[in-house]
Amino acid sequence: MMTPATAVGTQPPADLSMNETPYPPLPGIRRVVEDAAATLQRYPDRTSSALVAALSARLGVGPEAILVGPGSAGLCQHLVQSLGPRPDVVHPALSFEGYPLIIGNAGARPVPVPMDGYDHDLPAMADAVTERTRCVLLCNPNNPTGTALRRDDVEAFLDRVPADVPVIVDEAYREFVTDPRSPDGMDLYRAYDNVCVLRTFSKAYGLAALRVGYAVVPPRLTRAAALTGAVFFPGALAQAAAVASLTPEVGGELTRRCTELVAARAGLVGALRGLGLTVAPSEANFVWLPLGERAVPFAERAREAGILVMALPGAGVRITVGTPEVNERLCAFVRAALADGL
Ligand code: PMP
Repeated sequence: MMTPATAVGTQPPADLSMNETPYPPLPGIRRVVEDAAATLQRYPDRTSSALVAALSARLGVGPEAILVGPGSAGLCQHLVQSLGPRPDVVHPALSFEGYPLIIGNAGARPVPVPMDGYDHDLPAMADAVTERTRCVLLCNPNNPTGTALRRDDVEAFLDRVPADVPVIVDEAYREFVTDPRSPDGMDLYRAYDNVCVLRTFSKAYGLAALRVGYAVVPPRLTRAAALTGAVFFPGALAQAAAVASLTPEVGGELTRRCTELVAARAGLVGALRGLGLTVAPSEANFVWLPLGERAVPFAERAREAGILVMALPGAGVRITVGTPEVNERLCAFVRAALADGL
């Protein structure tokens, strides 16, 4: 299991372990949250009608296709639960460490399919689909390797999956993708009757503390999901902040931030490779170092140097792209650690 190294010392560490945005909330969003706090005594809109309407307009799908929930992880669990009763959920491994937990909580059985290098083994995942399969999870870009799926490969995969087996494409990091060969989940949703798209306001939108995400789901599947979701909706502050984040003004600023972050990612990948490390090609807001047995010692030494990264024992280390200053600090640490024989 992945474990974030914990901090020691007096100076607050640079936390590059959680794939959060390095940017503080935009002033306009803070104001919206502060204003919404004036009515904390009231229950939120359980239908999230303003947020669903804003997403519907943004994505060009009817409101009946949209589900919102407390973070995309919560929503994923809820969706998997509502897609029962078949027992199995096929998912990639190495991928988001939350999947086995989410699948188990939803009363299903995880069927992990080993990766092909850094990437999903899509042919093997298609082979793993049986009459017992409840749904399939794809993670694009993949956490923790950061690699993105290719359109042709995904289409060949979807062509092999039976139409009555939903495929949930988890696009938690979609906003950081720049490779034109990687498919937009919404295009897949329009082309295939069994594709669901899962997205979040936690990463590029910087609202991780508020817990809000959404899914675009074929309307024939949303009825059951909406029913089990009657007690399961984002809080009022989260709804208000998410709606405000979808306005053109805020959207423009968020896009600018994503562009800046993608440039910082390229700089970090180049710098780490320049130091002699192997770095997986990243389409997300983090990078993956396949350090094998060196992963845990690397993370421990980084923690001692005041930098928190996520180590997957025996496999590698996932490092979130930070501000230019923090990225430089990270590279200085790596240079020193390598010189020291790590
Ligand atoms: N999917 C992936 C691939 C993730 O990496 C994460 C968070 N690390 C999530 C879903 C969940 O994000 P949230 O619940 O904050 O929307």
